[in-house]
Amino acid sequence: MQKLQGIAVSPGVAIGEALVMDHEGFRIPRRFVARDAVEEELERLDGAIASVGQEIAGNRDAVARELGEKYGAIFEAHLQMLQDARLHGELEEMIRQRHYSPEYAVSHALRRYAQVFQRLESSYLAERANDIFDIEKRLLRHLLGRRREEISNLTSDVLVLAHNLTPSETTNLDRKFVQGFVTEVGGPGSHTAIVAEALEIPAVVGTGLFLTEVSGGDQVIIDGDNGLVILQPNEETLARYRHEVEEIRTLATRLQSLRDLPMETADGVRLQLLGNIEFPYEVDHCVDRGADGVGLYRTEFLYLGSETEPTEEVHYQAYSQVVRAMGDKPVTIRTFDLGADKVPHLPEPEDERNPFLGLRSIRLALRNLPLFRTQLRAALRASALGSVRIMFPLVSTLLEFRQAKMVLNDVMEDLEEHGIDFDHDLQIGMMVEVPAAVMMIDSFVEVVDFLSIGTNDLVQYTLAVDRSNKDVVELYNPADPAVLKLIVAAIQAADLNSVPIDLCGQMSGNPIYTMLLLGLGLRHFSVSPSAMPEIKDVCRHVTIEQCQAVANRVMSMENAQDIKRYLKEELKACVPELGE
Ligand code: PEP
Ligand code: MG
Repeated sequence: MQKLQGIAVSPGVAIGEALVMDHEGFRIPRRFVARDAVEEELERLDGAIASVGQEIAGNRDAVARELGEKYGAIFEAHLQMLQDARLHGELEEMIRQRHYSPEYAVSHALRRYAQVFQRLESSYLAERANDIFDIEKRLLRHLLGRRREEISNLTSDVLVLAHNLTPSETTNLDRKFVQGFVTEVGGPGSHTAIVAEALEIPAVVGTGLFLTEVSGGDQVIIDGDNGLVILQPNEETLARYRHEVEEIRTLATRLQSLRDLPMETADGVRLQLLGNIEFPYEVDHCVDRGADGVGLYRTEFLYLGSETEPTEEVHYQAYSQVVRAMGDKPVTIRTFDLGADKVPHLPEPEDERNPFLGLRSIRLALRNLPLFRTQLRAALRASALGSVRIMFPLVSTLLEFRQAKMVLNDVMEDLEEHGIDFDHDLQIGMMVEVPAAVMMIDSFVEVVDFLSIGTNDLVQYTLAVDRSNKDVVELYNPADPAVLKLIVAAIQAADLNSVPIDLCGQMSGNPIYTMLLLGLGLRHFSVSPSAMPEIKDVCRHVTIEQCQAVANRVMSMENAQDIKRYLKEELKACVPELGE
């Protein structure tokens, strides 16, 4: 049994068989081979080494011809490494004596060599580790001969263990069979994590490297509440987690009974519980949990889930499904927030060294007007079917908001000219997720119909900490006093000007922050459907006065860790079953 600590990004517990994807997206099969298959497996390895040898020699000759002998020598070095007798002996020993599969033996041995190089002081030598990874990739390609696409051809339940999953890869996971996932990299705010919540499966990211320790078919437990991954658990651990799965089920059933109760505090202050969705099917989850509307529809996943750019009709069908299901309740269509880690099949901007600070979101939209207009036309057409609000993401200047609104007005005029129906009074708002927007909030409240605080990005841009980087996870903290001050400023300015404001970052779906946010004056929560019952439960247990006392105490504290600890204690005191 082996335990790994990662970052908990989607709650719940999953117990099942591992499907292992390595760095290159190869699916690593079982670690062991049958005793009587050893000779056959050695032949397979020799075949792969011979083919890779030919491939590298071909590259060497071509490069030497085009660029000169000196450059060809790089490949000659690769060839020597590949044909090294010691390496071959090691691989053979692993297959013959330990019955490892050739794929597993190759990964295991070459990564060990690479690590030795990586530890060397000389940066030139350390970089040679990449040459070794290159050889590993080539060998695996020959041994496996099958690509990542296999992940979409599943026939039984699996837990996916991968080095990384991009948001579009996560979007394309087969919901029927993937029961949970773990990635070696990734941070708490990455969109991969957000998709896991949409799929309502437990997920852990940022565990660090471990894939060479595990092979396809091994039993694994994913504890999405505590960020734990347990490889090959013993009987006692299995029994404990099976019991936990039962308890989670019982709690979920109890929380389900809250569905039709009002979203209000114990002292009767009415609140609004909205849903965050990425895919149209999630609107059913919102309805099932008694949502008051959709506060954030991340429409960019329409682009990420498809090989081609979605047409106006594709947008319209998706939006109408959501709007119709919500009836007269509001549906907030956020225009596409592409770029940074959400990269579709569009021409990519060149040389984006800091994609989170680059051509992302509303900036990308204003540079790609035909793309933007197509989406706006569809959203406006869908507004004729119910109560649609349009929201612009990542607005950092007033000019940006005005420009986006001008494009929208232009599209409205177009529709009008063609006699196409839409809601002429639809509300137009923006996300507050860049500190500059808070600094200018007094001006923004004059021009918007509503605001939504996006703490996932606000934390990242306030504290200068990449939301998807596990190495700075300690700093990525919504409870940081600097972030809280910005939230307070936004809520106060909105209240003063009677502009509705909600909070749709992950923070509002985490019960430890509910009392604090209520105490700071927040009355509209937009959370993933799976978080709705818990958030409503907390609200119904507490009074505004209690929450204000908590907020006052927190605002006098200096340190995010202390604040988080205090909030956990308060939650435990008020709602013991959630505060565990
Ligand atoms: C946010 O930044 O808080 C947010 C809700 O937007 P996203 O997570 O899609 O960037
Ligand atoms: Mg954001």
